Amino acid sequence: MSILNKIANIIIILSISYQATSEVKELTILHTNDLHAHLFPRIAPWISESRKIGGFANLATLVKQEKRLNPNNILIDAGDYFSGPYISTLTKGEAVIKSMNFLGIDAACIGNHEFDHGWDNMLIQIEKANFPILNGNLFFEGTDQLVWDNPYIILERDDLKIGIIGLHGKFAFYDTINFKMTEGIEARDEEEYLRKYIKELKPKTDIIILAVHQGMPGRQSSIGLTDVERNLYKDILLARNVPGVDIIVTGHAHQGTEKALVSNGTIIVSTNATATELGKLQIKYDTEKEMIISHSNQLITIFDDELEDDKDMLREINYWQDEVDVIASLPVTSTAEKLVRAYGEESNMGNLFADAIKAFDERIDIALVNSGALRQDIEAGLVTKGDLISAFPFPNTVVITKLKGSQVKKIFDHAAGMTNGILQVSENVKYSFRPGNTAKNIAINGELLSDNQEYWVAAPNFVTQGGDGYLEFNNSLEYIDSGVLVVDATEIFLKGIDIYQPKYGGRIKVLN
Ligand code: FE
Repeated sequence: MSILNKIANIIIILSISYQATSEVKELTILHTNDLHAHLFPRIAPWISESRKIGGFANLATLVKQEKRLNPNNILIDAGDYFSGPYISTLTKGEAVIKSMNFLGIDAACIGNHEFDHGWDNMLIQIEKANFPILNGNLFFEGTDQLVWDNPYIILERDDLKIGIIGLHGKFAFYDTINFKMTEGIEARDEEEYLRKYIKELKPKTDIIILAVHQGMPGRQSSIGLTDVERNLYKDILLARNVPGVDIIVTGHAHQGTEKALVSNGTIIVSTNATATELGKLQIKYDTEKEMIISHSNQLITIFDDELEDDKDMLREINYWQDEVDVIASLPVTSTAEKLVRAYGEESNMGNLFADAIKAFDERIDIALVNSGALRQDIEAGLVTKGDLISAFPFPNTVVITKLKGSQVKKIFDHAAGMTNGILQVSENVKYSFRPGNTAKNIAINGELLSDNQEYWVAAPNFVTQGGDGYLEFNNSLEYIDSGVLVVDATEIFLKGIDIYQPKYGGRIKVLN
C-alpha cells in the first residue's frame, strides 16, 4: 500500500470514528419538588375553581406516560415531601415515603420539612424509600460523618453517564427548621461541598445534575397580593459561583419555572409546589462537544379529569388514608365561613390560631403565629381534627416568653421585612407596616407598645426558637415551653363552640 493510500485509509477511519463519537443524544429530566404530602387531588383555586388538581395516583400515571414516550429519562425530586395534609403528620411522613415508592423517582434530595418530626425520624422514614435519596452537606455536629451518607449517584442513560448530587442550602436549613428537630446535626456550606463533589464526578460523568433544597421559603397563602417576593436567586448565585453543574433541580421556593432559567451556563428548573404539576426538561447533548446544546422546559399541570389513577398508587394511598381516618375524622366544631390563609396580610385562619394561643394561658399579652405555619384552608361547615392538622401540620408546641417592648418591636420589624411572611396576631393586638419596611403603631389592648414594659408573648416553638429569622426570642427574659401542641390548644379553644364565626379585619394594616 502506497503512503498516499495509507493516509487516505487513515482519513477514512478517522472520519468514521469521528462520526461515531459525534452524536446528539436526547434526555428528558422529569422533575418535582415540594410535593408536601398532597397524596390526593383537590381544588387549587388559583389554578381552577372547578377542576381537581394533583394527587399521587394521577402523578404516577403521568410519570409512566412521560417515561414511555421519552425512553431516556430520569425523575428527580428536590425535597420537601413531608408535611401538608394530616396524613403526613399522623404517620410522621411514613405514608408519604411509602407512596413515593410508586412514583418512579430515580433520585431525590432532602428538604427542610423532612425534619419536621426530628432528624432521627427522618432517617427511619427515608430508609423505607426504594429510590436513592441524596445529601452531601448535613453532618453530625463536629464530625465528618454525613447524617445520610449518600451524597451522589451516577446513572446511565443511552451510554450517557449522569452524576446527580443532593444538597441542602445552609441558610434554608437554619432559617426554616425547628431547631429542636435538628439538635446534634449541622449544615455545611453548599458551595464548598458542591465543588468537592463536582471534582469527584467530573472524570466519571458526562452530565452533572444538582438536586438542591434552598433559597426563599415557599409562600403559604390563599389570598392576598402582598406576598413575599420570592425567586430562585440563591440558585442563580450558586450556579454563578460554582461552575460545572449542567442542571439544577431546585425546591423550597415553591416557584415554578415555566421557562428554565440559565445562569453561568447552568439550566435551573423548579415547579410550583404541592404536586400540582410535573416538570419536564428536555435536553440535547452533543457527545463531541461534550455539552448540552439545547433545552426546553415545560410544567405539566396535573388535571384529575385528564388522568386515570395509577392502580398500585391508589391502593397504597387508600391504605394510609384508612389508617389515619379514625383520628382525622373526629369532629371538633363547625365554621360559619371558609378559613383562608395569607402570607403578607391578616387572614381569618391566622386570627383563629392566634386567638387560640392567646386563650391558652391568661397571662399572655400577645399571641403570634407565623404565616408560613398555615398550610391548608378549611371549608365552611364541619371542622375535623384532620382539618386542623392539615391547616397547621407541624408538631409545634405553645411557648410563652417574657420580652421587653423594645424586643417585641424588633420581632414585628422582622415580620414587616417580609422575608418569611408576616406574623398573625391575637384580637387584642394591632400593627401596621409597609412591606419590606418596619412595623408601626403596635398596640396591645388599645395601648401603644412601650419600649421598657415587659410583655408575655406566646407563639409556636418554631418561632420562639428563632425559626423564620425571629432571633430576638433568643434573648427572652423568660421562656416557658408548655409542651402542648398548637393544634391541640386550637382544638381545646374550638371544642366548646358550636359554630365558630371566623374573625377578620382591623388587626394588621398594610400601608402602601
Ligand atoms: Fe422547603
